[in-house]
Amino acid sequence: MGKEQKSTGLLPVEEELIYRVGWLIKLRWLAATGLLISATVLNFFLNIPIEFLPLLTIGLVVIVYNILFKIYFQRSTKNLVRKTEPFYWLAYLQVGADWIALIFLIHYSGGIESPLIFCFVFHIAVSSILLTRRNCYWQVGFATSLLIMLALLEYLDIVHHVEMRFLSIGGFYDDPISVGAVLSFLVAIIWIVAYLTTSVTTKLKQREKDLFALEEKLEKACRKLEKVDQARSNFVLGVTHELRSPLASIGSSLSLFDEGYLGEISTRQQKCVERMQERVECLLMLVMDLLKLARLKEGGFREQKTKVDIRKIVNLVTDSLRPQAEYKGIDLKAIIPSHPLYIWADAEEMELLFSNLLGNAIKYTSPKGNVKIKAWKEGCKIKTEVSDSGIGIAEGELEKIFTEFYRSKNARAIDKAGTGLGLPIVKRIVERYGGKIVVQSAKGKGSKFYFALPAHK
Ligand code: ADP
Repeated sequence: MGKEQKSTGLLPVEEELIYRVGWLIKLRWLAATGLLISATVLNFFLNIPIEFLPLLTIGLVVIVYNILFKIYFQRSTKNLVRKTEPFYWLAYLQVGADWIALIFLIHYSGGIESPLIFCFVFHIAVSSILLTRRNCYWQVGFATSLLIMLALLEYLDIVHHVEMRFLSIGGFYDDPISVGAVLSFLVAIIWIVAYLTTSVTTKLKQREKDLFALEEKLEKACRKLEKVDQARSNFVLGVTHELRSPLASIGSSLSLFDEGYLGEISTRQQKCVERMQERVECLLMLVMDLLKLARLKEGGFREQKTKVDIRKIVNLVTDSLRPQAEYKGIDLKAIIPSHPLYIWADAEEMELLFSNLLGNAIKYTSPKGNVKIKAWKEGCKIKTEVSDSGIGIAEGELEKIFTEFYRSKNARAIDKAGTGLGLPIVKRIVERYGGKIVVQSAKGKGSKFYFALPAHK
């Protein structure tokens, strides 16, 4: 239904109407065949005296007009776009036709004594679902007029009263008080039911309309937010791009001082230059991370997807980070299978993903600890796990670490230069490939980052 709504531009209430109109047609097949079967069984198998031929005719007439309704319904659904008027008419006509068929049915099954009188109540519920409150009341007015007319005609003997001997009280129509009382009772019940059902369905329909309006508003707000976010990313991308070259040139100018190409400098000056170099390096790192994140938000790097063997990426990243691990005396292990682990991806993005995770694992593990990277195939997924025996992450911080610029206190104590952008980058990349990054960790007990990506066939 949701999909139809987008292509036809109909409100959910209108879609519901179309659905219900079709549903009533289906229900009528059941009612008509039920009538034909029951009349046949009562007449031929149970030998109960009933008005077989009129009942049979009513059943057949119902089938014929239902065929017409079905044809009209199918035609109207073909050119559905924004046109619901035929369905309102169809609902109105269907309910009206059913009242007429019902009144004949009631007449031939014992008048207002007939047990089928309760079909009226059922049909009121159907009308309140299909029609507006006002139209439903018109229809109920029409139905009660038919009922009163039938009772009067039978009472005045203008129309012969069909007596179902096995059901009838006998002589019921001779007593005007009984007829009047039953009739008033029936009419009262019908109007009470009509009032109750329309009250409920009107409220429900209104709520549905309100919900739809709210949904539209929310969608608009979301689109606006997306635009703002995009504009912000573009701004960051622009600014960081402009910052990168001057920062790099400040860095190289500082090296000229540091390496003595611009003449002797005092030890105090040397220290000051070194501090400046450190700061510039941090700034450059931040600028580079911001650039990567902004590019990912924009929709990927250069979108150069190829068949990438994850084992090669794991080996590449492990080899480049091994000196760092060895410097800290960390035991770095890569566990990969002998067969290739292909995925359809941008190799540069994969490298960034693994180097961020493995870099963090080495960075946040104390000397002599362990870091492990594992990749394997399971079904149609390539699964990866990066684990360490490092400082771990406190429970309250687990969900924050993927937020931009978030850095935990213990992490800041270990590494002052971090940007807090590595994990947001990791999350973006994994999600771009339809995966989800999961982390298991506890303070002081190491961490395990895990994700699965779709394998290439
Ligand atoms: P950065 O490493 O520059 O601080 P990240 O976005 O990569 O930024 O990580 C965010 C935070 O998540 C880190 O500051 C740290 O608190 C935590 N974190 C990430 N990886 C690990 C890890 N392997 N062990 C412990 N904490 C980690």
